[in-house]
Amino acid sequence: MALHPRPVRNRAWRHNGGFDEPQLSMTKTTPPAEDHLCAACAGIQRNWRKAPGHPELMQRGNRKEERGSVQVTVTRYVCEHCGTVWDYENNKQNQHVGWSVIGRV
Ligand SMILES: [Zn+2]
Repeated sequence: MALHPRPVRNRAWRHNGGFDEPQLSMTKTTPPAEDHLCAACAGIQRNWRKAPGHPELMQRGNRKEERGSVQVTVTRYVCEHCGTVWDYENNKQNQHVGWSVIGRV
């Protein structure tokens, strides 16, 4: 699976204090930032039920959430390698849930 091409490397504008270009925010449509993902995390298939995680993910507990009429289990993981916080949703009614990036510790 190819990694997403990143249209803008953000380093340039960060280093010189940041241009306040309005269109810049429009390119960041998928917060939180994911530049820090390690290779293993970047390789996780998102939003696909039963997609595997990777060995450096540490489970940090789970919770029940309502999805309309069904209850699903959401498991929280943190990557020991890069600190990315993941949720894995197990929803038998929906194939298109699974791993999603929540943030970073
Ligand atoms: Zn990672």
